[in-house]
Amino acid sequence: MSPTSGAVLVFNAGSSSLKYQLVQPADGTVLAEGIAERIGDTGSSMTHEQNGETVTETLQLDDHLAAVRRAERFFADNGTDLADAGLSAVGHRVVHGGRSFYEPTVVTPEVISEIERISPLAPLHNPANLVGILAAQELLPDVPSVAIFDTAFFHGLPDASATYAIDRAVADEHAIRRYGFHGTSHEYVSGRVAEFLDRDPASLNQIVLHLGNGASASAIAGGQPIDTSMGMTPLEGLVMGTRSGDIDPGLVLHLNRVANLSVGEIDTLLNKRSGLRGLCGENDFRAITELMESGDDAARRAFDVYIHRLRRYLGAYAFALGRVDAITFTAGVGENSAVVRCCALAGLEGFGIVVDEERNAVRSKAARRISADGSAVEVLVVPTNEELAIARQSAAVVGG
Ligand code: ADP
Repeated sequence: MSPTSGAVLVFNAGSSSLKYQLVQPADGTVLAEGIAERIGDTGSSMTHEQNGETVTETLQLDDHLAAVRRAERFFADNGTDLADAGLSAVGHRVVHGGRSFYEPTVVTPEVISEIERISPLAPLHNPANLVGILAAQELLPDVPSVAIFDTAFFHGLPDASATYAIDRAVADEHAIRRYGFHGTSHEYVSGRVAEFLDRDPASLNQIVLHLGNGASASAIAGGQPIDTSMGMTPLEGLVMGTRSGDIDPGLVLHLNRVANLSVGEIDTLLNKRSGLRGLCGENDFRAITELMESGDDAARRAFDVYIHRLRRYLGAYAFALGRVDAITFTAGVGENSAVVRCCALAGLEGFGIVVDEERNAVRSKAARRISADGSAVEVLVVPTNEELAIARQSAAVVGG
């Protein structure tokens, strides 16, 4: 049997980027992966990795279809004819499923129309995800496309945590509720935690901290999320690389009325020029840590605000859960920044949370325990793998 037989091509299309990975869902083997950046802009580039070789190319990419076409040729250069590779599905990350989608969904013309209809809920993301779907369908018309929604895992949030305390009629008319995002990651990581601890997921109360450029926390009781920090949009919650996370909603009104910023300008300010970048000019934790070590006050403040918000959520979720069995760090910052993990949980021995300094300092790509022996709460680092989760869910829905 060919190594690509039954594999899933996973697409994660952003507004000017396209990440892809060819994965065997059964064992998680990554057969190839690549990224196209600055699509539709000057200086677009693409990197493709397959058979142990990495090729990077600067080329003009006018749109996502051009990127998908170039990817197809990269595959062909490596001896993989995508149309004839026996792929079971193309799995697409779609950010917002609105009220309509909360299951892995085979893409049909009706599904495309519905994703379009709910796009105003995620104007920065869903249109780009759709472009990725259309490009894949044009190139591989015989392979089913499956949409995996970032909101799906949080579909069943209890009413009390999903509901904003605003006028019910307005909320209902405009589909306003807390949807939550990064669901594929929270679901995958919390499942891995149960495996790692060799525990039945139904018996575990967990807090998962997905700390990447975007960041979110979730509280999961017996496998079911009961709260999460992102809301109607991915702007709510933790301090992120460039997003503010929680702010007083009155601030938005003030920015409009007093600072004379338009809605579009406020959108850009809160999504792209806030968070760590807004506070210290950097959004990469490696740079922030270096700046802090060199005595930079703005970087120190950014770090302190980030940690303060994180601890506030940890405390809130511990009370919401009543008992916490495991706290898990994942994504770029969570998996790599020992100082963030250490500061997030410092001084919580009274709550049964004890991090072992040496274990925390170890760098590894494997799931690992960083709590001290005897810590009542397990503290773990578990690498996320959204591509594998998307591949598995896609293969399952098409019967692969
Ligand atoms: P996203 O998928 O949201 O773009 P990632 O999960 O890839 O983000 O995380 C990216 C972030 O991870 C970077 O902006 C950086 O802050 C952080 N990061 C990556 N590697 C390290 C590292 N070695 N030490 C500290 N932070 C890191």
